[in-house]
Amino acid sequence: MRRTVRIYLDHNATTPPYPDVVETIARLLRDEFGNASSVHAFGQRAKATLDRARGQIASLIDADPSEMVFTSGGTESDNFALRGAAEAAEPGGRRHIVTSGIEHEAVLTTLKALERRGWTIDVLSVGPRGVLDPDVLAHAVSRQTALVSVMHANNEVGTIQPIAALAAIAHEHGALFHTDAVQSAGKIPVSVRRLGVDLLSLSGHKFGGPKGTGALWIKRGVRLIPFMTGGRQERSRRAGTENVPSLAGLGVAAEHVRATLAESAPAIAALRDRLEAAVLRDVPGTAVNGDPAARVPNTSNISFDGIEAESLLIALDLDGVAISTGSACSSGSLEPSHVLRAMGLAHARTRNSLRFSLGPSTTADEIDYVAGRLPALVSKLRGVTRMAAALR
Ligand code: PLP
Repeated sequence: MRRTVRIYLDHNATTPPYPDVVETIARLLRDEFGNASSVHAFGQRAKATLDRARGQIASLIDADPSEMVFTSGGTESDNFALRGAAEAAEPGGRRHIVTSGIEHEAVLTTLKALERRGWTIDVLSVGPRGVLDPDVLAHAVSRQTALVSVMHANNEVGTIQPIAALAAIAHEHGALFHTDAVQSAGKIPVSVRRLGVDLLSLSGHKFGGPKGTGALWIKRGVRLIPFMTGGRQERSRRAGTENVPSLAGLGVAAEHVRATLAESAPAIAALRDRLEAAVLRDVPGTAVNGDPAARVPNTSNISFDGIEAESLLIALDLDGVAISTGSACSSGSLEPSHVLRAMGLAHARTRNSLRFSLGPSTTADEIDYVAGRLPALVSKLRGVTRMAAALR
């Protein structure tokens, strides 16, 4: 019999919005339609709502509200940071950007576009645990480097990068440092001051906010050429009438995770560890990918020898459990994970790994159900693989 209850373990793809986020958005959509740029009372109320949201998102990352620019999400924030910094650096003659091989497509594809425009892009390898060694970065940067972009936490394996050390190296060479904090914000404390970065990307739907909302933190004094041109919204840094209800929802989500993080993170990590311990104990031929210590509390990436990851994903989905093989943006491509490849894992392992990403709503019962189902599902799929091989 198929299970009807759905278990959602794909919080790195997106998260359910918090109920007070949904209520805020619905209320504002209905009652407060003003344009935040209008002078009259309707506009002033919308502006006050936006200012409040800006303060809430700034508090989440220990930033000043005036340094936050609202965007349509992580992809736009990454584009703005990379394209804006590149264009600003062009007159100075620096034409080199350094990044890591485990970045999200929003960074890697944008850098490929800059490469086509004459920029030199260096994509650095990471170690087997998915960590970029600061010495590797030190060898790659030079006085030609305009920008270094390395993500804070990886979306597939959850590994946290030594951002403060990496940013210091970029600064020694006069380069700017951007970090994509889309997968760390709301999961671990993020302080732009402590990280020592110049630009930081956020996305609302990864921490209980609405889709299509995000922000780019731009350190005071850092010059970016806006790539969204038009009106004077966002202090002329990002044109376009702001989506006030959704951005208010983003602010509520930011406030929520900031207030609950200290309590929720250890609880989520305990559930993640419980899942891993059960899988490693009960399913032979399994291994955890990534850095066991330096990783966000909610993410577990596990290899299952002798299966295709997509087959297990589908088997779990039929069983009512939602997980993923890696980035939601590249799922369906059946390409091996570029992150696991950049970590130097064997080809088979880049194709047989699954990501379980937990959230504040995940329960011990759900984890036990998944851990209880995996041995039989994996064994069945391995049997099918063996049979198919014998028939070949
Ligand atoms: N950066 C990282 C690390 C991500 O995981 C994602 C989404 O999966 C993005 C950027 C893109 O964010 P958005 O979906 O808000 O465009």
